[in-house]
Amino acid sequence: MIEWSEQQKLARGEIRKFIEAEIVPLNEQLEYGDLPPYDIIRKLYRTFGIDEISRARFEKSIAKEEALANGESLAPASETAEDDKDLSIDTLLSLELCRHAAGIVTAMGVTQLAAGAIMSKGSIEQKKRWGLDLLTAEKVGSWAITEPGSGSDAFGGMTSTAQLTSEGNYVLNGSKTFITNGPYADTIVFICKLLEEGVDPRQRKIMTFILDKGMPGLEQSGRLRKMGLHSSPTGQLFLDGVVAGPERLLGGQSKGTKGGAKRSDPKATFAAERAGVVSMSLGVVERCLELCVEYAKERVQWEKPIGEYQLVQLKLADMEVARLNIQNMLFNYIERKNKGVAMSFAEASAMKLYSTKAAVEVASEAIQIFGGNGYMAEYKVEQLYRDARVMRIYGGTDEMQVRAIARDLLSR
Ligand SMILES: Cc1cc2nc3c(=O)[nH]c(=O)nc-3n(C[C@H](O)[C@H](O)[C@H](O)COP(=O)(O)OP(=O)(O)OC[C@H]3O[C@@H](n4cnc5c(N)ncnc54)[C@H](O)[C@@H]3O)c2cc1C
Repeated sequence: MIEWSEQQKLARGEIRKFIEAEIVPLNEQLEYGDLPPYDIIRKLYRTFGIDEISRARFEKSIAKEEALANGESLAPASETAEDDKDLSIDTLLSLELCRHAAGIVTAMGVTQLAAGAIMSKGSIEQKKRWGLDLLTAEKVGSWAITEPGSGSDAFGGMTSTAQLTSEGNYVLNGSKTFITNGPYADTIVFICKLLEEGVDPRQRKIMTFILDKGMPGLEQSGRLRKMGLHSSPTGQLFLDGVVAGPERLLGGQSKGTKGGAKRSDPKATFAAERAGVVSMSLGVVERCLELCVEYAKERVQWEKPIGEYQLVQLKLADMEVARLNIQNMLFNYIERKNKGVAMSFAEASAMKLYSTKAAVEVASEAIQIFGGNGYMAEYKVEQLYRDARVMRIYGGTDEMQVRAIARDLLSR
């Protein structure tokens, strides 16, 4: 893939029209008025048929699983193979939304991360009960791993616990922070550790549970105030003696153990999250570049447009280099994904590290090109910067990406 296809360009045009008509007019409320993004996301899904596509894909995959569970033989692989999920629609949505409201991508993406965790590790019953409504965005999902005392060291430092009772239920305790959609989530994928006497807390088994809003003992905080990404509500979760039956345990009961997920399960979610941030970065860079080129032609100082000064030209050229690099990474990712050629964790980390740093640098230089106007909300580059800045932190900080890449290199 070296260019968007004509069909993708058409789809992109339609998405842009939707955003300009439905989201841009709400910018003030999304940025400063705490308007939750979920009705907008549902409308977006309906308008572009994403809910129906997700439902059809869900039904097909469940029918296949049920047939297998009933011991039915399936048609040859070529006839039953899942349609390769064409990533380009998600990518185009992410790109276009990031021009105006990157938070919506995060809010939408985290519901899909929660859905993905359930769809990849859940039983048929769990998928039906919780997965479908997340896939169609009918319900809001959260994926909760970070705690006040454990962020980068998410597994080692985690102190939230699950205690197995004699009746076979689990009692969950602990707190989570910085949880996207936390204040509004209907379904929460909650990651904690099995309380195992005599086992070093750092080494205890990781367990993943699916929780519902309103369960006794579960408190969802209000929105945390933050620097940017205002169209993505972020909050805390507090669990005090929440009782979860085994039907809520994701990853099932592993043979010979007290069950639960492996450390590699959330890692698969990390890889998807890392790769997803690339299209967000490209959206920010493209928008900054557009705004800056326009401004450099219009803004006159010393009787010349500032675009005629080489120091400004250098900034524009650097932005274009970043745009090309990120776009090439993204095309490579889409091509590989559509052909089923896996990307390693280290490669996903490398893409995230490069593209998010580039996006933050571009947005910062965009403010510089705009001078004092760049610091004013009206000119939009300040929001692009505020929105981009978190991309170097969430989904694993820059430093954690470096660690993943270096570990992979050094293990060869
Ligand atoms: C807006 C937003 C949304 C989020 N959404 C979610 C969500 O939906 N679900 C969820 O579970 N989490 C979420 N997070 C949490 C996010 O993933 C963490 O903030 C991130 O992983 C970093 O953890 P931390 O904030 O605890 O920083 P820390 O881990 O405390 O790191 C502080 C600094 O120390 C550095 N550091 C730490 N360890 C090392 C090391 N070994 N070597 C070198 N440097 C190191 C870090 O890179 C960083 O610079 C969100 C965060 C934000 C800001």
